[in-house]
Amino acid sequence: MTDLDALRAAQLLHYSSAGLNKGDPVATPLVQSTMFHLPGDPAGFDQYGRYDNPTWEAAQDALALLEDAPALLFPSGMAAIAAVCYALLKSGDRILLPSDGYFAARKLAERFLAPMGITADTCPTAELAAKPLGPYALVLAESPSNPGLDVCDIAALAQSAKVSGALLAIDNTTMTPFGQRPLDLGAEIVVSADTKAMNGHSDLLAGHVASRNEHLMQTIAEWRKFAGAIPAPHDAWLLARGMATLEVRFERMCETASMVARRLADHPALSAIRFPGLKSDRSHETASRQMSRYGFLIGLTLPTQKAADHFIEACPLIQPATSFGGVHTSAERRARWGDAVAPGFVRLSIGCEPADILWEAIDDALKDT
Ligand SMILES: *Cc1c(COP(=O)(O)O)cnc(C)c1O
Repeated sequence: MTDLDALRAAQLLHYSSAGLNKGDPVATPLVQSTMFHLPGDPAGFDQYGRYDNPTWEAAQDALALLEDAPALLFPSGMAAIAAVCYALLKSGDRILLPSDGYFAARKLAERFLAPMGITADTCPTAELAAKPLGPYALVLAESPSNPGLDVCDIAALAQSAKVSGALLAIDNTTMTPFGQRPLDLGAEIVVSADTKAMNGHSDLLAGHVASRNEHLMQTIAEWRKFAGAIPAPHDAWLLARGMATLEVRFERMCETASMVARRLADHPALSAIRFPGLKSDRSHETASRQMSRYGFLIGLTLPTQKAADHFIEACPLIQPATSFGGVHTSAERRARWGDAVAPGFVRLSIGCEPADILWEAIDDALKDT
C-alpha cells in the first residue's frame, strides 16, 4: 500500500465526523425520506428524494475520498456504465468495448445503443494497446478483465485516447481504488460495480462513476437526476458501512489470493492458472507497473467441466455463486454463462477466511477432482 492509500484508508474512517455538531450521531444516519421540509425558496436545500439524499451523499463523499475525485453513486454497476453511455454518447458516435470483459456492457450496446445510432466495436483487453482509438467517442476498458484477468497498460491507453480525442473509461471493479487508480494513470473516467468488493458483503447492488472532469460529471449527474437511476438510501447506508472495512478486507483477500495462486501454480489437478501476481503470467509485468496489489480473483482451468463442477461443490469454504468480491470465498464455472473460456475454467474469488484453513479446503477439494 502506498503512503497516500494509507492516508486515504485512515481518512475514510473519520471523514464523516468533520462536520459534526455536539450531540450529532457519529454513525452515518439512514435518512429514509423522499420529502424535505421546504417552505419558500428551495434553492440550496435538499429538495426531493430523486435529487438529493443525505445518506447517498455520505456514501458518495466516501467514494470521492477513495477516488480523489468527485463521484456519483448508482443503484448498480450497470446503472453506472449505462449512465456514462447515455449521458455522454450521441447518435453517430462509436464506442469500443472489451470483447472479454463484463458481458452486460456489450449486451447494452448491442440491444439499446445500436438502435440509437451508436456503433459498438469490441477488442480483447490484451490487444487494446495496438488498437487505433481515433474513431471512438468512448473507450471502455477493464483491467484486469472479468473473467479472463488480462490487463491493458492504462497509462499508455490514456495517452493514446487523449491524442485521438476519445474518452477513456476504466471499469475498476476487480481492483477497487486500493489496488489500482485509473484516474491517476490518466483515464478520464472510472466506473465500478460496488456490488462486489467495495461493499463486500453480498447484500446490495451499487455502482459509481468518478471523474476529475467537472463538465462530464455535471452531465452525468443531470442524467441521473432526470433518468432516475438513483440509489436507495438503505443500500447507500449499507455500502458506506461496507466500505469502512474495504482496506482491511482487500488486503486480506489479496494476500490470501497471492498465497493460494503461488501454491496452485504447479498443482497437478489444474491445466492452467491466471493470476497477475504470478511471474509466469502474461499480465504480470504491466500489472506490476500499474497495480499496487494483484487482486483477489484467480482464474483456474480444470481439465473438464465435470472436474470444475466437482471442485466447486466439494469445497466447503467455496460458495458456488455468480458475482465475486464478498467476504466469503466464492467460485463459478464461467462457461455456464457462455463466456468465451474453457469448459473447465473457474473464476475463484478469494474471501476473508483465514488463509491456511482456506488453502487446506481448496487443496482437499482438488485432490478428488
Ligand atoms: C458485476 C460487474 C459489473 C456490473 O455490476 P452490477 O452491480 O451487477 O450491475 C460491471 N463490471 C464488472 C467488471 C463487473 O464485475
